Amino acid sequence: MSEFVRVETAGDVAVIVIENPPVNAFAAPVRAALLAAIERVDADHAVRAIVLHGVGRNFVAGADLREFERASVAPLLFEVLRRVEACSKPVVAALHGATLGGGAECALASHYRCASRDLQFGLPEVKVGLLPGAGGTVRLPRLVGVKQALDMMTSGDPIGLERATELGIVDKAVGDDIRSEAIAWAAELATTGAPVRRLRDASIPDASAATPAWFAQYRETMPRAARKLPAPERIVQCVEAAVNLPFDAAMGKARELFEPCRTSAESRSLRHLFFAERGAPVQGEIRPVASVGVIGSGTMGAGIAISLATGGYSVTLIDANATALEAGLQRIRTTIDASAKKGRLSADAAAQAIARVSGSGDFAALAIADLVIEAVFERMSVKQEVFAQLGRICKPGAVLATNTSTLDVDAIAAASGRAQDVVGMHFFSPANIMRLVEIVRGRETSDAALATAAAVTKRIGKLGVIVGNCFGFVGNRMLYAYGREKELMLLEGASPEQIDRAMQEFGMAMGPNAVGDLAGLDIGASVRREWRGKPDDPRFYRISDLLAERGRYGQKTGAGFYRYEGADKKRTNDPEVAALIQGEAARLGVAQRSLADSEIVERCVYALVNEGARILDEGIAGSAADIDVIWCNGYGFPRTRGGPMFYADTVGLPQVLEGITKYEREQGTRYWSPAPRLVELARADRRFTE
Ligand code: NAD
Repeated sequence: MSEFVRVETAGDVAVIVIENPPVNAFAAPVRAALLAAIERVDADHAVRAIVLHGVGRNFVAGADLREFERASVAPLLFEVLRRVEACSKPVVAALHGATLGGGAECALASHYRCASRDLQFGLPEVKVGLLPGAGGTVRLPRLVGVKQALDMMTSGDPIGLERATELGIVDKAVGDDIRSEAIAWAAELATTGAPVRRLRDASIPDASAATPAWFAQYRETMPRAARKLPAPERIVQCVEAAVNLPFDAAMGKARELFEPCRTSAESRSLRHLFFAERGAPVQGEIRPVASVGVIGSGTMGAGIAISLATGGYSVTLIDANATALEAGLQRIRTTIDASAKKGRLSADAAAQAIARVSGSGDFAALAIADLVIEAVFERMSVKQEVFAQLGRICKPGAVLATNTSTLDVDAIAAASGRAQDVVGMHFFSPANIMRLVEIVRGRETSDAALATAAAVTKRIGKLGVIVGNCFGFVGNRMLYAYGREKELMLLEGASPEQIDRAMQEFGMAMGPNAVGDLAGLDIGASVRREWRGKPDDPRFYRISDLLAERGRYGQKTGAGFYRYEGADKKRTNDPEVAALIQGEAARLGVAQRSLADSEIVERCVYALVNEGARILDEGIAGSAADIDVIWCNGYGFPRTRGGPMFYADTVGLPQVLEGITKYEREQGTRYWSPAPRLVELARADRRFTE
């Protein structure tokens, strides 16, 4: 018996109860205790069948990811599960809730599986750069076939009860009292003399079709991003081994391939994000929210309303312009309908979500709202007028949020006359898709307003990160450092396409110039016109501004950094832009030269890191991990590099500091003086993320 695993008896059935809150992760002591328990009940003559049961909301949600930072500790899970499978009496796994990773592998090592409605069965290791190392790659193909097993393990996506039953993973669906039903079933299996069923002894149903040519073809069908990463490729190799080698040899291959995954930079980065994205709990009283007002039914307002309505809130959408209001409502309906058609939500849920949204041209409709999110034009005077009205109309205690990207939340809050209730909720575009929300704490924002905004963000399935108030908050402020360098490098002689290619090769989802064209160069130009503290430097964002001045706003006008022509609006390089840049460089006296891709990447990324360090110095971000969450979820920074701050740690802060100091010498101190935090950590040989 241990603190984590105990054996209870019900007649001649032994129930091995796993209890390691909150999710019964298979940490080392749990593994050791499970091994001891299975040996004991196997040897006990009074026991005729065994049930494996997880206490709480789920069976076993997987390994304890923190253990992977160090070499594995005995007993390894694959050994424990080998013992479970070898048991001489029928072992029934009683599955409910999250049955993931090592939990799913434990289910596969058991002889029989029953599950309740809330089952989430999956092998998500690939999402943290790992492979299922405890037998999943060898047992799952024997149960569901090669193709299905590969799809499940290379995507990492879980399946529910219905699909798991169809695939034969679950033998029996049970009700909510899973423990009792599993015991009754195990007793029945014992009585009827049901055999032990070991997947290690089974053959792979579609093995003969899984030829080398078939595997080559399968690799081609994997998403491009996955093909470049080590874990999905290694999962395919493990399944090839499962097809071609005996069970134990294939298991050995999986063990051999697991270790390089665990120690890879990709997996370390993804594990960092896994923990970073859980965030710290937000302190403060959460006010009840049922009804939410959204002001402004444009691009952002409509997207925010969709997220709220599908998340279960009733939404009142307000717009001063009746045509814009109708267009926004229409977009909400068609977008929700389209997600239902794609199978993202049921037709019923879609109809309910649409029914939760109503529109109005009158602010008085906001008197009942518990939360109001403003998404009107990005102009201080307009925002202040809106907040002054909210101050008059809203009920006491209503949380008032602004979706501003760059304006001063305190100045907006002051206009409401109740600054304690005002908070920033900075969504990203498209707001119904992007998960990130920067939750901005103003000078007077109360804990309750902040906690309420964070709770709503979570309930609609988004990732909220608390940030402080300054120009651009965390994400856009760092974006300006990144964009500043790429604009300077355009003047210095790098072409838009060279910069985009170099940054994409580094792993950014899109190059910065292509992003500018997508977002609209006019939008950025107008933000810079409103920006009081903008650097006094004629080179600052000069090329973007120049293109905007010429009416080249990007994709929407068919030309920006690139041209977008023809029916498919295919992107092509534009010699006119090259000439414009050259002319501007000459006018500003910037000497042109050829730049190496490595300089492009280093200047863009180090600029991000240095600004990130300043943001930490100023307390605008709570942690380096928060910055990484923002950049990986809002700006397409490669998850496999863990975010800019984790990436800097991987490079080594002394080396990053050396690079920044070199640019300070070459480019001057205006932008490149190293942040005090960076200097301090580099000197102490410490990291941003510890
Ligand atoms: P938009 O121009 O598409 O929509 C703004 C809507 O607000 C329009 O329909 C307009 O009629 C309405 N409106 C303007 N003044 C109003 C008032 N006084 N009362 C009621 N309605 C009013 O703008 P958008 O792109 O949705 O941006 C809205 C806000 O979101 C801005 O603060 C912007 O900075 C921020 N934001 C935008 C993005 C983005 O990528 N577009 C991303 C994050 C944040």
